[in-house]
Amino acid sequence: MLRNVFIKNFGCQMNVRDAQVIAGLLQKAGYKIMESDAQAQVIIFNTCSVRQHAEDRVWSLIGSYKGTKIIGLVGCMAQNYKEGAFDRDASISFVVGPQDIAKLPEILHKLTQKNFFQRKIWETDGLKRPEEIYHTGYYQDKQKTQVVISEGCSNFCSYCIVPYVRGALRHRKHQDILAEIKEALDQGITQVTLLGQNVNAYCDQAVDFIKLLAEVNALSGLKEFDFFTSHPKDAHSDLFKAMQDANKLTKRLHLPLQSGSERILKLMNRGYSVKDYLALVDSYRKIVKEGKLTTDIIVGFPTETLAEFSQTCALVEKVKFNAAYIFKYSSRPHTAAAEIAEQLDFFEIQKRHKKILDLQRKISKKLNVKKAERDK
Ligand code: SF4
Repeated sequence: MLRNVFIKNFGCQMNVRDAQVIAGLLQKAGYKIMESDAQAQVIIFNTCSVRQHAEDRVWSLIGSYKGTKIIGLVGCMAQNYKEGAFDRDASISFVVGPQDIAKLPEILHKLTQKNFFQRKIWETDGLKRPEEIYHTGYYQDKQKTQVVISEGCSNFCSYCIVPYVRGALRHRKHQDILAEIKEALDQGITQVTLLGQNVNAYCDQAVDFIKLLAEVNALSGLKEFDFFTSHPKDAHSDLFKAMQDANKLTKRLHLPLQSGSERILKLMNRGYSVKDYLALVDSYRKIVKEGKLTTDIIVGFPTETLAEFSQTCALVEKVKFNAAYIFKYSSRPHTAAAEIAEQLDFFEIQKRHKKILDLQRKISKKLNVKKAERDK
């Protein structure tokens, strides 16, 4: 019998939570979740497709098992490659997209049947996850957990594969979200991160994101919570007021900027201008006292000129983010940006990446020194 499963996780916080959801489902079905691959018969790769580099690592790791384990490709790469994954690496036995993870116990069960001859199973056509998957009670960390409030994204930023692998934005019912958080609190968890690819666009009938924040804040037993990732086009002063009012909410906003050039922002299909973004920063800092601000930036988007890159640097200097995650542009299948003929040279992207990274490091260091002086 195949009983021992090791889950190797890659990617964002959503995947961290999904890996636990998978572990909970499998544990409930009688499987043992292993801490390493050594004693595992089945290895599940819960994958990310946001950058080519992340995919390359997964292919290389799968290859390193040389067929000694049963290998499952799960998550965004599964959705991206579908049955083509079996051609890419014949040692893969099952391919399961993010919307189909509820089927994993059944798939593993099938693979253990003596008279089951099909050794290649793929499930990548699911649209909606069944609510039950979030209620298995499995928590790896006994103090904090993530709670998915919405899945997918309908924004179609021109560089991003998420809408193609995670599907359109769907919101969970707010009662289900609250029930899941209460279950976690009953188990002794005290910190929660509300997750969504476009978390602040949340809406379930009359309950929008602001109302949800207030409802979560009111839960007894909860000590601290935060949310991730916000989109600037869905951020506004009412959200910042709600953040200030919610006493258990961490005063930190992650607001991805991506570029400081108006032309590149338009090409990225981000739905806001540099002016809009700066107005948001101003409003946030006025309303949320001592609120931290972090961001994401992509360098080397197709056709980005040196002058446009300098505009991004200038904006980083002006805003002074507490931290910034700087990414090299990575061309992704299905996306509009991949179709742009003029893609930047890899070494040029690397050069720009280093330059802005150094700049942000200096800013973060200065902010930390100032904070240390204030705290003395
Ligand atoms: S908002 Fe844009 S970058 Fe974020 S997940 Fe949706 S499409 Fe991707």
